[in-house]
Amino acid sequence: MSFETAYSTEGIFENINALEANQHFFDGILTDPYAFQCSENCSYPLTCKSFKKKSTEWKKAPHFCPGKNHSNSVHTCGKEQEDTSPHTDGQQNQEHSVEKNKDRISLNIFLSTGFDVLKIKSEKQDDHTEDPSIRTIRTPNTHLPPKKENAQVNSLIRLLHYYYSESFPNNQYLFKTLDNKRYCLNDLFFDLDTSPEIPDVNKVFFGTARIIEKPTYYVVRMKEFCTLRNIRSKPSILIGKKLLTDNITLSNRFNRLSKISEFKFFYFGKIIVRRNEYLNFECKSESKLLANLYLKD
Ligand SMILES: [Zn+2]
Repeated sequence: MSFETAYSTEGIFENINALEANQHFFDGILTDPYAFQCSENCSYPLTCKSFKKKSTEWKKAPHFCPGKNHSNSVHTCGKEQEDTSPHTDGQQNQEHSVEKNKDRISLNIFLSTGFDVLKIKSEKQDDHTEDPSIRTIRTPNTHLPPKKENAQVNSLIRLLHYYYSESFPNNQYLFKTLDNKRYCLNDLFFDLDTSPEIPDVNKVFFGTARIIEKPTYYVVRMKEFCTLRNIRSKPSILIGKKLLTDNITLSNRFNRLSKISEFKFFYFGKIIVRRNEYLNFECKSESKLLANLYLKD
């Protein structure tokens, strides 16, 4: 049994996944691992495990489970059943569930273009940074059958949620992109800490990183050396402070993480060779950059 999302009763009053809850703790938005319930309309209490743990300290990634004092109470709203995903315990059970849930997760992007900035009312930057050409590409996909909200992946944090969720198998082809190609999470993610040979394709590259702060920009640099086309370097990306001015939470996170030794960095896109010397995370469009990177305490 698992709860993919929980309703936060502490300040933000919306459904979030446990990775978001964990990051909200470090961003100073949430403080209480017990201030969650099943949904807006169901007060069944939930606890966020590993709520205050940094990604470098996780034994298990953050997840929701029934609150301690209510583990015996009956929970009847049905959300738990819906959220319960393919089990990883028992091969037979797993295969059966996966078979049954084929196509259940739409990854609403083309791998070549990455994620778009989500429209969030509270963040005014989103209104003018969305690329109008992307909307045109998306229009033909309105024929897709309506699906539950939790079966749609529109953001990098949502994809990370599945990658770290213990109840999702990372080796099954459960994700379908807008061009109807199927992917498993192991194909989509690439760990730069343990695999130094970089493939020349779009993936979620991730690993331990550091930030160097300069007056007008930050440089995020991976901790480990990697190799691409015989160039050996630590992949890095430069992010102008100006780009962060409309996103105070992220701006504060850059500032905070630049003062600690290391954290986890995720980047959806490609790594390229620059000036025959450096390895850089490719930034095709500044307007989409922030939607395709994630800094995790
Ligand atoms: Zn419920």
